[in-house]
Amino acid sequence: MQIKLQFLGAAQNVTGSRHLLQADDTRMLVDCGLYQERQFKARNWDPFAVPPGSIDAVLLTHAHLDHCGLLPKLVRDGFKGKIYCTAATSEIAQIILLDSAKIQQEDAEYKRKRHKREGRKSPYPEVPLYTTEDAEACFPLFSQVEYRKSIDIGDGVEATFYDAGHVLGSSIIRVKVRQDVQERIILFSGDIGRPDRPIVCDPTVFDRADYVFIESTYGDRVHEDTEDIKKLIGDVINSTRKAGGNVIVPSFALERSQEVLYYINELLLEGTIDRLKIFLDSPMATRITSVFKHHAELFDKKMTEFVKRHKSLFDLPGLELAGSAEESKAINRIKGPVMVIAGSGMCTGGRVKYHLVNNISRPDSTIMFVGYQATGTLGRRIVDGEKEVRILGQKYQVKARVVRIHGFSAHADRNELLEWLRELEAPPRRVFVVHGETESACSFGDYVREQTGWEVAVPAYQDEIILD
Ligand SMILES: [Zn+2]
Repeated sequence: MQIKLQFLGAAQNVTGSRHLLQADDTRMLVDCGLYQERQFKARNWDPFAVPPGSIDAVLLTHAHLDHCGLLPKLVRDGFKGKIYCTAATSEIAQIILLDSAKIQQEDAEYKRKRHKREGRKSPYPEVPLYTTEDAEACFPLFSQVEYRKSIDIGDGVEATFYDAGHVLGSSIIRVKVRQDVQERIILFSGDIGRPDRPIVCDPTVFDRADYVFIESTYGDRVHEDTEDIKKLIGDVINSTRKAGGNVIVPSFALERSQEVLYYINELLLEGTIDRLKIFLDSPMATRITSVFKHHAELFDKKMTEFVKRHKSLFDLPGLELAGSAEESKAINRIKGPVMVIAGSGMCTGGRVKYHLVNNISRPDSTIMFVGYQATGTLGRRIVDGEKEVRILGQKYQVKARVVRIHGFSAHADRNELLEWLRELEAPPRRVFVVHGETESACSFGDYVREQTGWEVAVPAYQDEIILD
């Protein structure tokens, strides 16, 4: 028995998750993500390390773009096997892939025009990485699996999906390779959530594994949970209402938007805030929210009881889902106070830009950030306190109140990751630390070694290893 693994992404960086696992003649790709860091984006255009037609199956941990975003290219380039994932992941991934294809097409068009005008050349071709048709072509290959029910990949290889508690439908994948009397268990953590988060369950723990591939997004940090998220949101809504302004929330479409609604619902039920008009102004968030609605079986205990008592969380009073662009524009004609949750999360595109234009120079309005703001984004410039920002080609004075809520995180921190590993009853043969910036991954690797004495490696891009 020979098991080989090749790291094709998320190796000393966060995005582009792709692990190629080969057990004898069976080839599997665990995740097929898009590179999103500017310095690595060109890798999205590289040919795959092996012909896609030679890969037997894709095992998909969850629907975030950095885990599923390169599937349309894999399929276009010849992959014909099944893409195994949970039903919720398959439904959300399809929404996200269609959106991504649209962005790829718009981006290519924009770059082509700009480069022509400026006489420059792009480091990668000015044609879309993939199109809507390419995205749609992968949908028939999605094969839905249930948590904890093993699927047979062939040649003694078996895969089982377990709840990762990261986003709805997210999984930790356990691969079992068996030959004669020999057996190896390999765990792919995907992204691991945190205990006690709203809506989703806690991450599954395991007592046995021979090899573990663990994420390390926050491998060098400990979340400070001193913030009471619900109280902060309540304070923002009440004070902004008193001032007569609006609350604008730039938010990611998957999980974060639904979490914000969850807290608002609790505040309304407790009577901490009065009823107000809330707009979920993101067609993608609205579509994803409807996936949440019909996958109530995935909710944690608290949320399940909540749904029993109050019907659906997402039918809260005052909530309106803006679909068309017209409906979105109409929000700005409503005399406040209103709350608008809109994408994109870092204000790099989407409808939130129009709401910022209408509110950023109003001292009575509040811009409430609930997610990470990467360097160089409009969101980052606003949270960094710039007095003037450029939105849609125009300059605006920042006079609105800017509030940042740090407590939201869908990733386990250093201590939570170590606790998750420590559930293993015997030391694994080796732990591989992936899905983290070099500093974070190495720091977490050292920490695990120090705390457990286990053998730990931090692989680099394109490294190949033989297990055993
Ligand atoms: Zn993720």
